[in-house]
Amino acid sequence: MTIPFLDLKAANQSVRDEVDAAIARVLDSGWLIGGPEVERFEHMFAAYCEAEHCIGVGNGLDALHLLLRAAGIGPGDEVIVASNTFIATWLAVDMVGATPVPVEANSATHNLDPTLVEQAITSRTRAVLVTHLYGQPADLDPLLDLCRHHGLKLFEDAAQAHGARYKGRVLGGHSDGVAWSFYPSKNLGALGDGGAVTCNDAQLASRIRALGNYGSERRYVNIERGVNSRLDPIHAAAMAVKLPLLDAWNGHRRAIAALYMDGMANSAVTLPHVPDWAEPVWHLFVIRTKDRERLQAHLASRGIQTLIHYPIPPHRQQAYADSPAAHAPLPIAEQLASEVLSLPIGPQMPFDHAQAVIAAIRDWSPA
Ligand SMILES: *Cc1c(COP(=O)(O)O)cnc(C)c1O
Repeated sequence: MTIPFLDLKAANQSVRDEVDAAIARVLDSGWLIGGPEVERFEHMFAAYCEAEHCIGVGNGLDALHLLLRAAGIGPGDEVIVASNTFIATWLAVDMVGATPVPVEANSATHNLDPTLVEQAITSRTRAVLVTHLYGQPADLDPLLDLCRHHGLKLFEDAAQAHGARYKGRVLGGHSDGVAWSFYPSKNLGALGDGGAVTCNDAQLASRIRALGNYGSERRYVNIERGVNSRLDPIHAAAMAVKLPLLDAWNGHRRAIAALYMDGMANSAVTLPHVPDWAEPVWHLFVIRTKDRERLQAHLASRGIQTLIHYPIPPHRQQAYADSPAAHAPLPIAEQLASEVLSLPIGPQMPFDHAQAVIAAIRDWSPA
């Protein structure tokens, strides 16, 4: 038996007829950039996120960088980010000419530790950009308080957390702006690249929209030097089919995660920790073990595919070799990078696959 890490084909197959019809509608409409399908999806996603505005963009990295740029973050500014996030969070800060300043995660939740943020604030700090890693919401309230107290913006990288809830409220409208990716394997995925920003500030929303469209609000009138980053109607139409199913798909991920949590007892393996205020959407189910390579090989020998998110933290990447962060002591990020292992999980994963993963973990003992 092969147990795939994520069966994307199954997810798309389950909505194949509706997506085919949506694609045909786009082709027949003649609107291949912008237009009613994009507006419709933006309204749907804003409503889903309980946010006032949604701006579709080309991908998650652009969502992050256009959000920062539209908020006026630029050269000379510092933005606090998690030390253990996907590198896009950091790159977005670099793209606007600002400096990412890493702060360690809480090693139980894998998310930015609010108690460590204050000591990283300098006179140049303008914002905190917090990632909801693996689909688990970060602890927003202490960050909101801290940001308000110090006059900073709070932004969120929710690329892995569509539908996750913090203290009962869905993510998307809690802070100064939230960036989303619709990369195909995310909980809500397009048919290729896609992204969005949600926020409650009309001015910020129109600036993001203009920046992603050559800095133009009216055709051929350019108020600033923007970029081309738009959500295409074909993706918007496909996601309008998928969005109504997102909660059910997240519910299936939750059911798989509950099986894992209940069944996976092994003293050499640390299971995810979910604070009582968090309702994660299990973009990834990430365990920790000191003997990862051997556990990964053991699972592979039973046909179970696993991945590592992420094997090298941003500050250890060659891309950041010339930055001050390269020499920062970030032991938690490094330890997590050496111990984390992502198990198969997905919206169509059969329960017997989950049982096989559980059995394989229970049977394993480190050398
Ligand atoms: C996927 C992802 C991104 C980037 O999204 P793209 O659409 O691939 O540009 C950013 N941050 C996090 C945490 C991600 O998982």
